Amino acid sequence: MKSLDSTHAPDLESWVASADSHPDFPVQNLPLGVFEPPGEDARIGVAIGESILDLRAAARAGLLPPSVQRAAHEPLLNALMGLPAAARRALRAAVSGLLTGRAHETLVRPILVEAKGCRLLNPARIGDYTDFYVGINHAVNVGSLFRPDQPLMPNYKYVPIGYHGRASSVRPSGEPVIRPRGQIKPASDAPPVFAPSSKLDYELELGLWVGPGNDLGQTIPIDSALDHFAGACILNDWSARDIQAWEYQPLGPFLGKNFHTTISPWVVTAEALAPFWIAQPPRAADDPRPLPYLSDAEDQAAGALAIDLELSISSARMRAEGLAPQVISRAGADTMYWTVAQIFTHHASGGCNLQPGDLIGTGTLSGKTREAFGSLLEISGNGKQPLAMPSGETRSFLADGDEVVIVARATAPGAASIGFGECRALVLAAPSEP
Ligand code: CA
Repeated sequence: MKSLDSTHAPDLESWVASADSHPDFPVQNLPLGVFEPPGEDARIGVAIGESILDLRAAARAGLLPPSVQRAAHEPLLNALMGLPAAARRALRAAVSGLLTGRAHETLVRPILVEAKGCRLLNPARIGDYTDFYVGINHAVNVGSLFRPDQPLMPNYKYVPIGYHGRASSVRPSGEPVIRPRGQIKPASDAPPVFAPSSKLDYELELGLWVGPGNDLGQTIPIDSALDHFAGACILNDWSARDIQAWEYQPLGPFLGKNFHTTISPWVVTAEALAPFWIAQPPRAADDPRPLPYLSDAEDQAAGALAIDLELSISSARMRAEGLAPQVISRAGADTMYWTVAQIFTHHASGGCNLQPGDLIGTGTLSGKTREAFGSLLEISGNGKQPLAMPSGETRSFLADGDEVVIVARATAPGAASIGFGECRALVLAAPSEP
């Protein structure tokens, strides 16, 4: 999973002119996605610079290895994600060869599509979506707002905390998010009202795609957990804090979280991420050791990802005045208290079956300072310190017309840096009451 080969060489160049200097999609990336050219049906593709390689057309032309031939004809990535790592590596090697070897240019150029104008869809049929809570700085910040004496619950450093989310409302970048209505309890002793959320928030997260699954009743050992990891995307777990605050006891998040989740549509594959594994930050000396089923020396040595995420916001007024979006959150995936492998292993540890195309959110990633907080709840201290915007407006939570964009980038010494594309959505007003 973490082995480097010629497809990762930092000096590798593509004959696709826009690829070599592309901030997100140089030939070392080759992310998989599902796209719809104007007026045509959806199919699987690979992003390369400002173009998309039509993978179904490549399969039809006999340009792909036999082991991926069938899966490449599918309209979604589930079958490809479920292939063993060897087949996925063979696909990457073949695509890299097609896009670098001048000899292939004449054959391949006709099946390259200009990305501009194509619609990007959810890359897989998401059977299940689970959201974890492994960003420890976020957990401490949010805990401090509501439980200053004990920000972290006693289980946090033993259990990778998560909850089952809603798969049907996961949508690709570009689709607007509609402000939800819900039950909201005023701070006073008044009874709850049913009204539009006035505490709509974003959450800066990484999404993890499940590759080969495990059978019901079977578990995923920590030392082979990454065999089940297909790749990553950016994830925005939209949250209505006021609805959440009233409904969450005793069973946890529900309608405050399930109205919409935005993902970046390209799957940056586990193979592409090979150069970007770094050591998991050591646990504090007085933290408990992970239980044996979550402990693996190799995972601790190289189980964290060198990925940085950046979130910007622009209000309707900022766009009207021609002001640039303001970056308000910057955090790295090295703020995860639990690794990708520990998340996968824990999820399956009771025999729960993960399936190809399942989506797992890491939980909000926050750094230690306000500039690095991954939600407005943290930045504004639940509304007590509104954020100043360049237009003179302020924000404690999101306003209608705000557009939130997250980008992410993986970097490592000696490797070509790769990006994730965009995770973008515009906030629309709650529909008027029926
Ligand atoms: Ca979340």
